[in-house]
Amino acid sequence: MGSVQIVTTILAFAITAVAVWLAVRAVMKMVAVIRLGQPDPTRFGDKGTRTKTMLAETAGHTRMLRWSVVGAAHWFVMVGFVVLSLLVLEAYFEVVTPTGGLPLVGNWAIYGLVTEWLAILGIVSILVLIAIRLRNRPTRPGGKSRFTGSTMWQGYFVEGVILAVLIMGFVIRGFKVATDHFEYPVWAAPLSHAVGGLLPNWETGVSVAALVKIVISMTWLIVIALNVTMGVAWHRFLAFFNIFFKRDPGANVSGLGALRPMTSQGKPLDFEEADPESDQFGVAQVEQFTWKGLLDFSTCTECGRCQSQCPAWNTAKPLSPKLLVLSLRDHAYAKAPYLLAGGGKDLTGEEKATAAQLAHVDVLALAEAERPLIGTAEEGGVIDPDVLWSCTTCGACVEQCPVDIEHVDHIVDMRRYQVLIESSFPSEAGVMLRNLENKGNPWGAPQNTREDWTKGLDFEVPRVGEVDDFEYLFWVGCAGAFEDRAKKTTRAVATLLNEAGVKFAILGEGETCSGDPARRIGNEFVFQMLAQQNVETLNEAFEGREKSKRKIVATCPHCFNTLGNEYGQLGGEFEVVHHTQLLAHLVATGKLTPVQPVDGGVTYHDPCYLGRHNRVFAPPREVLGSAISGGDGASGDGGLIEMPRNSERSFCCGAGGARMWMEEKIGKRINVDRVEEAMATGARTVAVGCPFCSTMLNDGVNGKEAGEQVEVVDVASVLLRSVKPDQAPGGTDTERLSVAG
Ligand code: SF4
Ligand code: SF4
Repeated sequence: MGSVQIVTTILAFAITAVAVWLAVRAVMKMVAVIRLGQPDPTRFGDKGTRTKTMLAETAGHTRMLRWSVVGAAHWFVMVGFVVLSLLVLEAYFEVVTPTGGLPLVGNWAIYGLVTEWLAILGIVSILVLIAIRLRNRPTRPGGKSRFTGSTMWQGYFVEGVILAVLIMGFVIRGFKVATDHFEYPVWAAPLSHAVGGLLPNWETGVSVAALVKIVISMTWLIVIALNVTMGVAWHRFLAFFNIFFKRDPGANVSGLGALRPMTSQGKPLDFEEADPESDQFGVAQVEQFTWKGLLDFSTCTECGRCQSQCPAWNTAKPLSPKLLVLSLRDHAYAKAPYLLAGGGKDLTGEEKATAAQLAHVDVLALAEAERPLIGTAEEGGVIDPDVLWSCTTCGACVEQCPVDIEHVDHIVDMRRYQVLIESSFPSEAGVMLRNLENKGNPWGAPQNTREDWTKGLDFEVPRVGEVDDFEYLFWVGCAGAFEDRAKKTTRAVATLLNEAGVKFAILGEGETCSGDPARRIGNEFVFQMLAQQNVETLNEAFEGREKSKRKIVATCPHCFNTLGNEYGQLGGEFEVVHHTQLLAHLVATGKLTPVQPVDGGVTYHDPCYLGRHNRVFAPPREVLGSAISGGDGASGDGGLIEMPRNSERSFCCGAGGARMWMEEKIGKRINVDRVEEAMATGARTVAVGCPFCSTMLNDGVNGKEAGEQVEVVDVASVLLRSVKPDQAPGGTDTERLSVAG
C-alpha cells in the first residue's frame, strides 16, 4: 500500500464511520417518533399478500409506471441505486489498492456487463428526472407545478449525488483501463473503455477517484441523517415498510372505499360505552394518529402527484394533500423531543410530564407542542381549518400516491375530533346534521314523502314486506327520494328494471340516510346511529338469505359505497351493485334493448365514489355505448367522448366529503371547473351516475347559462331514452328523459 493509499483509506473509513454513526442515530430517532403513534393491530395480518404487494409495487413499480416516463426513469434509478451500493462497496477495496475489486463477483465479466449497463441507464434516467424537475420547477414562469411547496434543494441534491456517484464509477473504471488493471473486455464495459482512452496512465487515480466517490456517498448519508424529514431521500428505505403495512394490501388502491372505523387504543370505539375523558375521539394531537399515520408522513417523497390531482388545490383552495402531509410530518418531528421526554396532554387536556422531565427539552420543541393541530395562522395552527374543510374526500391523492399514503383517513380523523368534541365545523353543515338526526335525511323532508317518486308510474313499485320473492332491494337513497332531478333517475331505473322483468322491492318509509355525509364530515356518532338502524332494517328484509342473495341496487354511489363497504363494520353483509352495473348486465343479457341512438355526443363524468373509490369504470360506459349506438351498431352522432380527466384520474364535482352541504367560498368553484372541461368536449350530453354529481354539474351549467347547449343527465335516463323513446315526450331534454315527470 503506497502513501496515497494510506491517506485515501484512512479518509474513506473515517468519513464512513461518522456517516454510519449519524445514520444509525437518525434511524433510531425515526423509529422512536413513529412509535409515538397509537396502536393499530390491523396492519399485521395476511403477511403473504402484504409481501407480494410490496414486492410488486417496489420491484415492479406498478403504481409509478402509470406515470410512464417518470415511472420508467425512476425504476432505473432505483435499480441503479442498488447497483450503486455495490459499486460504492467496491470503492472501499479500490482506496486500499488500485487493483482492488469486489471479492468473487468482481472478476466476472457478466457482473461488469450488468453494472456497466445499469449505470449507463441510471445516468440517462437521473438526467431525465432532473430535467422533469427543472421543467416543473415552481419558479418557472406561468403554469402550475406539482413541486410547489416541495423542498427543491433536497430533490436536486439527491439527484445530483446519484449522478455524481454513477459518473465517478466510470472514472474509476477508466483509470483501471488506462493503467491496464481492468478486468472486463470491451464488449462487457464499452463506456468504461471509452473513458479509459481519455484518461492518463495514473495508477493512483483509481484510489483517489474511489475516495471522491465514497466522500460523495457518505456526504449524502450525513446530510440525510441530519435531516430526518428529508422524505425525498428516506423514502428509498421507508417506502417498503409503508407499502407493506398499508390498510388494504389486497385492494387495487389502499385507503379508498370504506373509511377506517374510529378507534381508541387500537380498538374500534363503541359509542354506547365511549367516554371522551378516557377514549380518544378522532385526532386532536399529532401523536394521536396511529404509528402508521406517522410512518405515512415520514415516507412522503414530496413528489406532488397528489397535489397535481387534488380538486381543491386545482381550484385555488388552500388544501394540498402534499402540504398537509408535510405540515404534519414537520410538526411531528419538531414536537418529538417533548413527547419523547414524556410530554403530552391527556384526554382531559392535562400535561402528563413533570417539570423535571421537561427541564431539558429544547424550547423550540416546547413551543411546537403548544401549537393547536387545527388552527388558523394567527393561532399558530398546524393545519388551517380552511385546509381541513376543503377536502371532498375524492381520493385522487390516495389514488396517485406512489408510496400508498392514506390521506383521506387522516383528514377524516382530524375532522372527527373537530366535530365531536369541539363542535367546530362550517356552520352551514349544521342544518344537514340536525336534519339527519331528527328526520333521517339531509334535507329534513318528511319521512312519509319517501315514496312520492312512485306517483304516476304506470306500474306498481313493490315494498319489502308486501313481496318476498324480490331479487334486488332497490335502495333509493335520500336524494333519489326527495331531490327533484334525482327522483327522475329513480323513476328511470325503476322503469328499466320493470321493463327488464327484474323482481325488485323498495323499503319505502323504512329507509333512512345511509350516513355517508355524517361520516365524512366527521360525525361518527350520527353515522353509527343511522347505519345501525339501516343494518337492522336490511337484515330483517333479507332474513334467512345467504349473503349472495342479499342483493341491493343503489343509484347513489355514496350509498353504494357505504352499504357495500362500511356496513360490514356493523354486521351488515350485503351484495351491493350500482344501477349502472345492473343496467349494463341487463343490456348485455338482452333483457333491455336500446333501439334509438342518442345523438349529439355524450361525455361521462366518473363519480369519485363509484369510480376511484370502487373501481366501477366500465359498466356506465357500456350502458352509454349501447344507448349511443341504439343497440344495433348504428352509431349516434358524436359517440362517447372522454374528458381529459377520466376514470382513475377523474375530477371531482365538488360535493363529496359532505362538501355538498358546505358553502364554497374560496377559489374557483370545482363544479364550474368540471363543467368547463365537459363542455370543451363538444358533447351535448354530460352523463353522470350520482345524484350529487348531477346537482353540482347542473348548477355549473346553469351558472354558465349553458342549459341550451348541454344537458346533464343520469346514465339510466340516457338508456331509457334509447330503450323507450316513446316515453320521452317533449319539454326540455332533461324533462324528456323523465318517464312520467
Ligand atoms: S381527497 Fe381529494 S380533495 Fe381531499 S385532499 Fe385528496 S385529492 Fe384533495
Ligand atoms: S403523492 Fe404521496 S409521496 Fe407524493 S407528495 Fe403526495 S403524499 Fe407525498
